[in-house]
Amino acid sequence: MQEKEQSVSKDYLRHYDELQRLGLWDYLTGLEKNVRDLERFFSDALNLFNIQTAGGLIEFVISRFLEKFIPEHLLFVIEDAANFEPETYYFRRLNANDLIKPASWYKELKRVFPCDNQPVILSEDCRWISSSLLADLQCYETRLILPMKGIDGIFGFILFSSKVLGTSYTDSEISYLHRLVQFFSVGLQNTLNHQSSITDLKTGLFNHAYSMRRLEEELFRGRRYKTETALLLMDIDFFKRLNDTHGHLAGDAVLQEIAKTMKGKLRVEDVLSRFGGEEFTLLLPTTPMLTALEIAERLRAAVEEMKISYRGNTLAVTISIGCAVSWPANPLAPAQMLNMADEALYKSKGNGRNRVTLYEKPGV
Ligand code: GH3
Ligand code: MG
Ligand code: MG
Repeated sequence: MQEKEQSVSKDYLRHYDELQRLGLWDYLTGLEKNVRDLERFFSDALNLFNIQTAGGLIEFVISRFLEKFIPEHLLFVIEDAANFEPETYYFRRLNANDLIKPASWYKELKRVFPCDNQPVILSEDCRWISSSLLADLQCYETRLILPMKGIDGIFGFILFSSKVLGTSYTDSEISYLHRLVQFFSVGLQNTLNHQSSITDLKTGLFNHAYSMRRLEEELFRGRRYKTETALLLMDIDFFKRLNDTHGHLAGDAVLQEIAKTMKGKLRVEDVLSRFGGEEFTLLLPTTPMLTALEIAERLRAAVEEMKISYRGNTLAVTISIGCAVSWPANPLAPAQMLNMADEALYKSKGNGRNRVTLYEKPGV
């Protein structure tokens, strides 16, 4: 038995010597490392598809970049999915998040970028780049540019400066970055598209479709866990008069300011949306009636106190609010609840506006 073991290990050693002599041992070790890298790579890609915010995605890819090298600066320029304007996320020495001028050069770079969408090492030899564009890019000490490509073509770039250690980017680093950024781009575009599909463009609040979906979900949850759910319907008072006097752009500025003011007064779990025109809804999950009325009053008072400067004028508005509550003992359907909030809002208007009314059953 012992003899057999000895001859087996001798066999191994002989094969090992042979593999080393032929250089195959290093090759096999390299293959094994590649397989491990690839496995890591795919698990990273899956992680990327599950991160729900642009900021979270950016943080994740930066952490992966840093495992390979440290650039002096990193700049992400990403098109807003709703208005196609470039937003910049700047990481100077990878920690400060400096404010940076809007990327005026972004559209030109996108227009002239080589259509194979491969990474570009920036140099004087890049003949397709105009000298003014080159100068703009060199402001950030750019060495390497990676495009972010989505279903509709390029929607952003990542600009890498030189590494802290001063060495240049190797082919294998560039090819790793290229693959990672391809996955990152798909994940990011998915996130941005999702955000824009649930957002109202004018106010930045949730849109009507999203608020209706959440109302249905929250009423279902309330029914299941026996909790109260509240809904506020809000409407600006005499908004037509404001538009007629100061113009629609002034009206838009007021809509935006009201949205900002109300958003600042709420918890993250509250769903504030632009219901349409100059109407807003606020869905308050797991919120008892008295708390909902307090929140409504807080919002009403906050809007009343607003003074909005617009082209030399000071604009002031008020809102009327209707409130409906779904009780565990008598849970409501979404349309029913909306109708009740609407009836209560109508009463607020009828009773002089700038007030909160709770829906009460007729005859109560
Ligand atoms: P009430 O107090 O009874 O609500 O009076 P109101 O003038 O606010 O009500 P009405 O429904 O008559 O007018 C709503 C106005 O809101 C009419 C419309 O021009 C304006 N509006 C709706 N959407 C927008 C928008 O996106 N921007 C601007 N500027 N105005 C809008
Ligand atoms: Mg209205
Ligand atoms: Mg109105």
